[in-house]
Amino acid sequence: MPLKTPEQYEESLRHMNFKVYLQGELVTNPVDHPIIRPSMNSVKMTYTLAMDPQYEELMTATSHLTGKKVNRFTHLHQSTDDLVKKVKMQRLLGQKTAACFQRCVGMDAMNAVDSVTFEMDKKLGTNYHDRFIHFLTRVQEEDWTVDGAMTDPKGDRSLSPSKQADPDLYVHIVEKRADGIVVSGAKAHQTGAVNSHWILVMPTISMSKEDADYAISFATPADAEGIFYIYGRQSCDTRKLEGSTIDVGNSQFGGHEALMVFDNVFIPWENVFMCGEYEFSGMLVERFAGYHRQSYGGCKVGVGDVLIGAVALATEYSGVSKASHVKDKLIEMIHLNETLYCCGIACSAEGCRTASGTYLIDLLLANVCKQNVTRFPYEIARLAEDLAGGLMVTMPSEKDLRHPEIGKVVEKYLRGVASIPTEYRMRVLRLIENLTLGTAAVGYRTESMHGAGSPQAQRIVIARQGNLEQKKELAKAIAGIPSK
Ligand code: SF4
Ligand code: FE
Repeated sequence: MPLKTPEQYEESLRHMNFKVYLQGELVTNPVDHPIIRPSMNSVKMTYTLAMDPQYEELMTATSHLTGKKVNRFTHLHQSTDDLVKKVKMQRLLGQKTAACFQRCVGMDAMNAVDSVTFEMDKKLGTNYHDRFIHFLTRVQEEDWTVDGAMTDPKGDRSLSPSKQADPDLYVHIVEKRADGIVVSGAKAHQTGAVNSHWILVMPTISMSKEDADYAISFATPADAEGIFYIYGRQSCDTRKLEGSTIDVGNSQFGGHEALMVFDNVFIPWENVFMCGEYEFSGMLVERFAGYHRQSYGGCKVGVGDVLIGAVALATEYSGVSKASHVKDKLIEMIHLNETLYCCGIACSAEGCRTASGTYLIDLLLANVCKQNVTRFPYEIARLAEDLAGGLMVTMPSEKDLRHPEIGKVVEKYLRGVASIPTEYRMRVLRLIENLTLGTAAVGYRTESMHGAGSPQAQRIVIARQGNLEQKKELAKAIAGIPSK
């Protein structure tokens, strides 16, 4: 049965042999670690909702390979309808977790590797696509969570991979053997790495001939010999160690990033999907980035829905919800959030079929989508802080609220509208704090800026895809200027 239950997913992680360092210590049981577990819960939600009949349409799809029902996160988009459903699924999951649910990176990587290996084989006579389809079939059968890994540490940005003082600053081939390749290097800020079964590695930039040893793509079990992780810190992460539920803001869910290190890792040929074909590295980067820029028009919108709802509640709890400027600011937040969704839907609806049969988003619109994501969540967060008020960051702790003596004082002086328990007000303000300044702010704010590529990366694609010459011709025709 290709669909894993959420319990089977959690259990499968327990059988993995991850090597994870967190705050200088080797973690023996990542699944139950209080800092890691909320992020595992977010991925687990992708399994939970796939079992729920009311979400079946969005969360599952029919595999074009086997005809079986699979989780949409393991599916290759077979139509523009699939692309639209992907964005809707991501909005749903953002709403249910108010966090990064991590599984999209692998979905986006698999869709990109599919069409690029197909076109590469056609041009060069290689046989990567068959290998990839074999891998994908196993992913669907096992309902694995796959982490797409693209971003290398990159060292001195003015130098190409092969010119770096340290060759490991980009993942590269150390040795080619009869049975496979050995790779070393690292991938930085890898979303959901230690909640994943497999890693699908791609090159991080368009490569030239001198960098051929860096133009590699392969899949590997996430706990393979030689791979280890250094877990990234998040603002306020140690609140998760305090055993409180209010102060964390979102005690159930979260996301994570980690530095993923490859120390002479062996990859059998059957899992290698690019090995030196540098002229196809740029296409792979562009398509993966395009899919992930589409993704942000879904996931960030879902998280935005929760933030807007939290702010609306906070204004009710403090008795200001009827003020006209409050209503107007909430309208502005909704307008910005829905504009992001429009972009996610538009680049999906305007998608097209690639040679392999997998559908690709409209690259220009996907990049416009992500460019807006580098801005609008910041404005939404600014308005959220405006309406939440300063108490969001000056409030006493849950321990003070629960204290036998001063608890009454906290109750008394933090109360807003008399009919609303003080605890509710504290809970909703802490949620807003979490989303705008705490652990979830990694996903909602800074990741909105840099995830799926920093703003300048989108502007480069917009410049390339924007078709300025055609626009000039349009203007000439209207203005009565002869065309060349
Ligand atoms: Fe998915 Fe969004 Fe997280 Fe990327 S940032 S993995 S698209 S939830
Ligand atoms: Fe991301």
